[in-house]
Amino acid sequence: MFEQIPKAPADPVFGLIDQYNLDSNPDKINLSVGAYKNEKGQTPILRCVKSAEQLLVECESTKNYLPIQGLQPYNELVAELIFGADHPVIKQKRFATAQTPGGTGALRVAGDLLRRTMNVDTVWICNPTWANHGPIYQAAQLNVQRYEYLNEAQTDLDFGRMIASLEGAQAGQAILLHTVCHNPSGFDLDPQQWDQLLNMIKDRKLIPIFDFAYQGFAQGLDDDAQPIRKFCERSDALICQSFSKNFGLYSERVGTVTAVGNTESTAEALLSQIKRVIRTMYSNPPRHGAAIVHTVLANAELRAEWESELGEVRDRINQLREGFVATLDELTPERDFSYISRQRGMFSYSGLTKPQVERLRNEFSIYIVGSGRINIAGVNSANNRQICEAIANVV
Ligand code: PLP
Repeated sequence: MFEQIPKAPADPVFGLIDQYNLDSNPDKINLSVGAYKNEKGQTPILRCVKSAEQLLVECESTKNYLPIQGLQPYNELVAELIFGADHPVIKQKRFATAQTPGGTGALRVAGDLLRRTMNVDTVWICNPTWANHGPIYQAAQLNVQRYEYLNEAQTDLDFGRMIASLEGAQAGQAILLHTVCHNPSGFDLDPQQWDQLLNMIKDRKLIPIFDFAYQGFAQGLDDDAQPIRKFCERSDALICQSFSKNFGLYSERVGTVTAVGNTESTAEALLSQIKRVIRTMYSNPPRHGAAIVHTVLANAELRAEWESELGEVRDRINQLREGFVATLDELTPERDFSYISRQRGMFSYSGLTKPQVERLRNEFSIYIVGSGRINIAGVNSANNRQICEAIANVV
């Protein structure tokens, strides 16, 4: 019955991991995955998470279903983390937050909400963007359009090109924005560009979806949220939060979707519609990851520990980036890699071409995504020179 079904193409990132696992070279290096790695190449469990889990083992009394919108005290603390406790959205209760399975779950719930409740037919996503954005919105039956983000050489943001390519966006359509640490390029908008873009979004009556997968990875928890906080003072928006990266809770699948409206009663209606979407998608979310995040955010000591651990991660990524660029400069003085220092977050567009990426893989067992995206957190003091020498060889 099923014999005519063709094989689906491999996922661009997870397919590469399969290839890496089959590579017998003992010096192979994987810079393709989207997870943070420490100096030993491990993706560690944060100390605050371990402590929270210990508390949960002792105190948790049930594994009963959560409500459709998830753990309510968690939702409230996450909304405060996004907006800050004194923000008008919080004070006026103009938000509807629901727990989701990771940022991916949040993006998909937002897509279904737009399509089914708001009658939105089109979402604009940037080129390039995280490889799953397009497929998620196609799966939600939305028409996916692209706006430009980078210059031709892909070595910087091109704001003029970005705005020009949004010319065709019509009132009532949605636009997906990387709030911070653009994946895959690492190039973010500056505050003036954000103001200009968000004014345009407001004037043109577009609906922004802020993808917030890296809060705390660029400048800090509050600074990274500025575009959302500013826009939502007076306007409606959707926000998709993920705790995969900033809590290291990748496999626990924990995030939130937040819809901001202009009154408390709009927010109540929004929550009821979000619940309707969730009920037919996965009924209600898993408890453990959200219980960990809630335990940490609600406990002053654990929260301080989390902020300090997140600061360590952010500083280490910045140091790795500097060391990486310095070694590349030393080995390839004829080529300018300084644009890599202007990028933020775990990812970096290296500017390497597809054939160069293939040579890195085939001749040096160094795995990076075909677009030339490098996970900077996969670099460490032991492999930095090996990676840079291989790059110097292929450019
Ligand atoms: N959005 C962006 C920009 C991402 O980079 C990722 C993950 O890499 C996600 C969303 C999805 O996050 P999660 O793993 O929590 O589903």
